[in-house]
Amino acid sequence: MGVLEQQDSEMAAIIQREEERHRLGLELIASENYASAAVLEALGTVLSTKYAEGYPRKRYYGGCQHMDEVEELAISRLKQLFGADHVNVQPHSGAEANRAAYTALMEVGDTAMGMNLAQGGHLTHGLAVNFSGKLYRFAHYGVDRETELLDYDAMAALAREHKPKVIVVGATAYPRIIDFARCREIADEVGAYLLADIAHIAGLVAAGLHPSPVPHAQVVTSTTHKTMRGPRGAFILCQADLAQKIDRAVFPGTQGGPHMHSIAAKAVCFGEALRPEFGEYQRRIVENAKVLAEELQGHGLRIVSGGTDNHLLLVDVGVKGLTGRDVQLALDAVGITVNKNTIPYDERPPTVCSGIRIGTPAVTSRGFGPDEMRRIGTLIARILDSIEDEKVAVAVRREVVELASSFPVPGIAAAARD
Ligand SMILES: *Cc1c(COP(=O)(O)O)cnc(C)c1O
Repeated sequence: MGVLEQQDSEMAAIIQREEERHRLGLELIASENYASAAVLEALGTVLSTKYAEGYPRKRYYGGCQHMDEVEELAISRLKQLFGADHVNVQPHSGAEANRAAYTALMEVGDTAMGMNLAQGGHLTHGLAVNFSGKLYRFAHYGVDRETELLDYDAMAALAREHKPKVIVVGATAYPRIIDFARCREIADEVGAYLLADIAHIAGLVAAGLHPSPVPHAQVVTSTTHKTMRGPRGAFILCQADLAQKIDRAVFPGTQGGPHMHSIAAKAVCFGEALRPEFGEYQRRIVENAKVLAEELQGHGLRIVSGGTDNHLLLVDVGVKGLTGRDVQLALDAVGITVNKNTIPYDERPPTVCSGIRIGTPAVTSRGFGPDEMRRIGTLIARILDSIEDEKVAVAVRREVVELASSFPVPGIAAAARD
C-alpha cells in the first residue's frame, strides 16, 4: 500500500487494522467472502474514471470503446455461467438489482409476495421501512413451525388470496434447498412473475450444487460478492422477452452511470467461476457447513431445520439459555465473527434474537477444511458453555489467532510486521 501510506497515513492505518482483524480472526458472516487478488486488482484501476451511461454500442458519451469490451466480456461470461437468455451486469448492489426488477415487473402500489423477514427473507422483500415495503404491497410467506422448511402449500394459499404480480423467492438466512420448480407452479396458478433472488446461493447454483432457478424464474437477481466471491455488486438474469424492460429499469430507470471498474471485476469473477476449481471450492463450502453443523450439534446446540444443504447454518442458542446478541458479542471478543439472527418463530425481538447465523464461504476461501471446521465448532461451544469466563475467552482467543495465522487471507498480503 505504498502510495496511500505515503499520502494518507491515517486511512492507510485504518485499512491495515482491518487487514489485521481478518488475518487474526475467523470470518463467519454468511454473506461475506474474500475476493481474489485478481478481482481486487481490477477494482483499483482507471476503469473507475469512465462514464459509460447506456449499454455496449449504445452509450451516451464518447470514449467508451474499451468500456464496451469490458461489459461485453462480463455479459458473455455471465450468460455462459448460468445459461441465461439475457443478462444485465450493471446493478450496483443486490438491493439495486431488486429495485430494478420490481420497476420492470410492477407498477407502484402493486401486490407482491416475499419471504417473511424474521424467517430468512431480505429487507428488499417488503420491509415496511425499505423502498420495497413503501412502494409495493408485500404479503409474506414463511417456514413450517415444525420442520422449519419453506411451506409451499401455505405459499400457494397466500398467492391465491393476494393474487400478487410478483412472487419473490430467495433468502438471507435459509439453510435448505429452495424448490424453484414448485414456486413457478404457484406463480403460474395466479399469473404472477417468479423472481428468484439468489444473492446468497449464486455460487452454489453456478457450480450445480443447488438447483438453478433459470429454467423456472422469469427474472433472477443476485449479488456478486457473497458465494460468488467477486466484487461488491450484482446482476440480473432474465428471459429474452423481458430483456428490454429489465435493461430500461436498470438504466435509466433506477441507476446512472455503470461502475465500470466493478463490472470489470465482475467479469474476472465470472471467469474464475467458469473454471473447474470453482466447482470444487463450492463443494468444500457446503461440506464445511455440514461438518460445522454436526460438530455444534455434538455440543448440544440445536441447528434450525436439523442441518444445512448450503453454505450457512442457523444455530438456536436459546437452548443454552443465551441470546443471539450476547453470543455475537462474546464471539466477537475472541475474533470469531458471526451475526445474531432470528430463528423461525423467535420469541425474542430482532435486536436480541435467539440464534446466530454462521457461513463458511470466507473461511473456505482461506483454505479451511473439515478439520478446521471441527476446531471452530469446539471453540464456539467453549465460549457458549462459559460465556462470561474471562480465562476461557483468553484461551480461545489464543487458539483463534493460532488457527487464523496459518491460513493466509486471499487478497491481503502477509504483513511485513508478522
Ligand atoms: C444480500 C442480499 C441482498 C442485497 O444485497 P446488497 O448488495 O447488500 O444490496 C438482496 N437479497 C438477498 C436475498 C440478499 O441476501
